[in-house]
Amino acid sequence: MYDYAIMRKILMIPGPIEYESNVLNTLSLPTISHSSKEFVTIYKEALTKTATIFGASVSESVPFIISGSGTLGMEASVVNFIKRDSKVLVVNTGYFGDRFVDLFSRFTDKVDQITSPLGEAVEPLSIKEKIDTNEYELITVTHVDTSTGVKNDVRKIAEISKGTDTILVVDAVCSAGGENLDMKWGIDVAFSASQKALGAPPGLAVGVAGSKAISKMEKIPPLTFFSDLRKWSSVSRGILESKGGYFGTPNVNLISAFNVSLSNIMQEGIENRISRHETMASALRAGINGMGLEMIPKKSFANTISAVYLPDGIDQKKFLSEAEQHGALFASGLIKEIASRYFRIGHMGSITSSEVMIAIGSIERALRDNGHNIGVGAGLTAAQSYLSESGRLKSMN
Ligand code: PMP
Repeated sequence: MYDYAIMRKILMIPGPIEYESNVLNTLSLPTISHSSKEFVTIYKEALTKTATIFGASVSESVPFIISGSGTLGMEASVVNFIKRDSKVLVVNTGYFGDRFVDLFSRFTDKVDQITSPLGEAVEPLSIKEKIDTNEYELITVTHVDTSTGVKNDVRKIAEISKGTDTILVVDAVCSAGGENLDMKWGIDVAFSASQKALGAPPGLAVGVAGSKAISKMEKIPPLTFFSDLRKWSSVSRGILESKGGYFGTPNVNLISAFNVSLSNIMQEGIENRISRHETMASALRAGINGMGLEMIPKKSFANTISAVYLPDGIDQKKFLSEAEQHGALFASGLIKEIASRYFRIGHMGSITSSEVMIAIGSIERALRDNGHNIGVGAGLTAAQSYLSESGRLKSMN
C-alpha cells in the first residue's frame, strides 16, 4: 500500500529535532573566512543572543560557543572550576547526572551525589543540608534530565547556593530555549548544545560563565586543553569587541545557522517560546492520559521531553517502528533498568499543535496495531480538548 507516512515522518526524539528552513538554508551558504569582518559580526551576534537566552549580560559574563557536542559543554563547564581532588556534588536525576559522575571521576575521588526516586525531582532542601555540612567547590544540576523528562527546580537550588563559595553549574542541554532559565537566579555556569530547543543541527556546545565563575577560574591552573575556558573566554571577548579571536577554527557554517535560529527565537520572544513549549507539552500529556498511558514523572514535568511507559505486553522495538511508519520517530528508554519499558518523545524547537497531534495519532495507531485496546481517537480527543480550551490553538499557531 502506498503510504505517505512512510515517506514523510517527523523527528520527535529529544534532539536532534526538526529545524526551521531558514536555519538549514544558512548551512548551505559558502563558507567564509573565520577571521573575516562578516563572520566576526555573525559570531558576535550569536554570542550576544546566547547570553540573552541564558539571562546574562555580556558585560559581566562570558558566553561561549565551541565546536563539539553537549558533552564538551559538560566538561568545559566543570573542569575549569575545580582542582585535582576538589570536592564536588552532583544533583543526579538520571543518565546525564551519571555522566557528570563519570566525568568527575577523571579528576577527583571526592564526588558526592544527591539522587531522587525515579521520576522525581531532587528536593532543594536536601541540597541545602549537603551544602551546609560540606565544602563543595562545585555543584552540578541537570535542569531537565533527558532520560526521564523530570525537571529540577533550578531556581530554588540557585537561591540555596547563591551567596556561598560553591560554583553552581546547570546542564541546560535539554532545557535552554524551552524552559524558564535565568543566570540571575544565582547560576554561575549554564551550558547547552545547539541541537535541541535552541534549534540548530548538532555540533555546538554553548553556554555562559558568570562573574563568580570567571574570577574563580582565573585562580586555578587548567586541567585540560581544548575545553580550557580561559582560551575560549579570550576568543569570546575578542569577538564581542569586534576584534576577532582564535583558538580553534570555528564552525563557520554551523555558527551562522545557529545565529539564524537564535534570531528566530528572539523574533518569537523568549517568554512566548517557553509558554508555547509549556502548552504543547501539556497538550501531549493530555493525549497520553487520554490513552490511559503513564508517564515516568508524576509532577515536575519538562516542557521539552516526555518519557512514557508502554502498556504491559507491548514490544518496544515493534511499537517504535510502527509509530515511525505512522509518521513520528520517537526514542527508546535510557534508564538501564527500565529501558525497554518506556519511550521518549521530544517536543521542542518549532513544535506546534500539528506535531503534537501527529505524535499522539501515531502512538495510538501503533498501540492498536500491537493489539492494545484503546478507543480510536482517545488521545487525540483529549489533546484537542485541551488545546481548544481558552483559545489555546488560536494563539499558538
Ligand atoms: N546533558 C543532557 C541533559 C542531554 O540531554 C545531553 C544529550 N542528550 C547531553 C548532556 C550530552 O549532549 P551531547 O549528546 O550533545 O554530547
